[in-house]
Amino acid sequence: MKEITCKLLVIGSGPGGYVCAIRAGQLGIDTVIVEAGKPGGTCLNVGCIPSKAMIHAADEYLKVSQMAQGGDPLGISLSEPAIDLKKTVAWKDGIVGRLNTGVAGLLKKAKVKSVQGWARFRDGKTVEVETETGIQVIRAETIVIATGSLPVELPFMPFGGKVISSTEALALKKVPETLAVVGGGYIGLELGTAFAKMGASVTIVEAQDRILPLYDAELTRPVSKRLDELGVAVLIGAKAKGLSSKGDALLVETADGTERDIPADHVLVTVGRKPATQGWGVEEIDLDLTGPFIRIDDQCRTSMRGIYAIGDVTGEPMLAHRAMAQGEMVAEIVAGNRRSWDKRAMPAVCFTDPEVVSVGLSPDEARAGAAEIKIGQFPFAANGRAMTLQGESGFVRVVARADNHLVLGIQAVGSGVSELSAAFSLAIEMGARLEDIAGTIHAHPTQSEGFQEAALKALGHALHI
Ligand code: FAD
Ligand code: NAD
Repeated sequence: MKEITCKLLVIGSGPGGYVCAIRAGQLGIDTVIVEAGKPGGTCLNVGCIPSKAMIHAADEYLKVSQMAQGGDPLGISLSEPAIDLKKTVAWKDGIVGRLNTGVAGLLKKAKVKSVQGWARFRDGKTVEVETETGIQVIRAETIVIATGSLPVELPFMPFGGKVISSTEALALKKVPETLAVVGGGYIGLELGTAFAKMGASVTIVEAQDRILPLYDAELTRPVSKRLDELGVAVLIGAKAKGLSSKGDALLVETADGTERDIPADHVLVTVGRKPATQGWGVEEIDLDLTGPFIRIDDQCRTSMRGIYAIGDVTGEPMLAHRAMAQGEMVAEIVAGNRRSWDKRAMPAVCFTDPEVVSVGLSPDEARAGAAEIKIGQFPFAANGRAMTLQGESGFVRVVARADNHLVLGIQAVGSGVSELSAAFSLAIEMGARLEDIAGTIHAHPTQSEGFQEAALKALGHALHI
């Protein structure tokens, strides 16, 4: 049995773990990272990156399909487009492969030792890793748990056969003719829309009374409209009951209580993700949990001294950029620097069509905080750049305190608005007032002018509306 000792051991090399290890290495901490799969975790291998690659491919295919149908207002025409999903997936896998190598290289550059295999706690300072060449024991002064999350399974319809999770959906060899999606949240809508654009007949089954219930209804309305235009059937207030007796359809109880079969070559189940707390010996170290998640404080410390936890395993929002920010902070703390979680802004972006961004408080949340508020909203229909990009649906909305104009929240829905999220986050993180945004020169013609105009609107003197 081989043994290594180190100052810091990180379990899991997703965005939380690998960022923590790189920063620790940069700070001169003797660091080991253990990963059972490939570097980059869920995000890089089967999450953020591959899904956005497939969404882009679907957008491109839809564009040429519309041109071929002669419905292109730009006057471009072509004939008979086709999509070879095997090639699309191979292109996506190429991007993932390049990033895997990139993360491995960054870890090496930071002098982090990588161990490949499944880690299991023996006690609070010792972990055993099942490697290809036998058991590797690692003793560490400090351990960071960054084991991430896994897709939630419906007990009456487990994954297997035609019932798939996002991981299998991102590796299909051909576009299904019919796809039933259970769950109209992030993954269901991002991937459901992509498959609809690639030609599948898609039905989304959502238990709540609207899609993307995490966002306010005004923000998601343009997304619902677009789903309708794309021919995606959305059943809200509906419950999946299992596969039909013949196994060729999804049995659904609709909002009015009737049962219906939804034809489905595949049933994609996207009803949330659960923290990966099983199989690595959580019981050996007896950590406190909050619900299913590992409980942490504002420095990501768990209930056991010397053990930190970061990323999806610690709770919502389960987003890659939260995991990365926690990872970076923990590395600094382990290096002896005074740091704690003091972020004001946590952007959330849904890569639907159109895209949705939310940072800070929604109007209802701001009102609930008892402050009198001002809201400024500017439609992309009045933005020149959006018109040239055929992206006139949607708006930017700014929510601020009425007394001192401190910006509390910024939301947008529109084509390509994910790239505006940086400006929104910066404004909130830096404590911007409406006057700061209104007084900043925004380049013309850009969609970002909608942000400035929304702030001007809240101040009562928008220029282009
Ligand atoms: P993970 O990325 O889950 O990594 C955990 C790693 O730990 C895994 O590689 C796993 O193999 C390893 N591991 C677990 N246990 C052990 C063990 N005992 N021993 C060794 N290794 C172990 N988020 C966004 O912010 N933007 C997006 O656009 C986005 N899109 C997504 C799309 C999809 C389809 C999915 C599924 C998720 C998406 N997410 C997105 C969420 C994002 O992927 C996660 O929030 C992020 O990956 C969490 O990072 P993490 O480091 O906590 O864990
Ligand atoms: P989600 O929480 O976003 O959505 C799940 C949806 O399923 C909800 O709308 C819920 O009401 C619905 N639902 C739950 N049980 C149901 C049932 N039995 N029948 C019908 N509907 C049901 O979860 P997800 O889409 O699986 O994504 C998981 C997590 O991954 C997200 O919460 C997010 O943190 C992360 N993610 C982020 C992004 C992004 O940042 N762009 C993209 C994908 C995933």
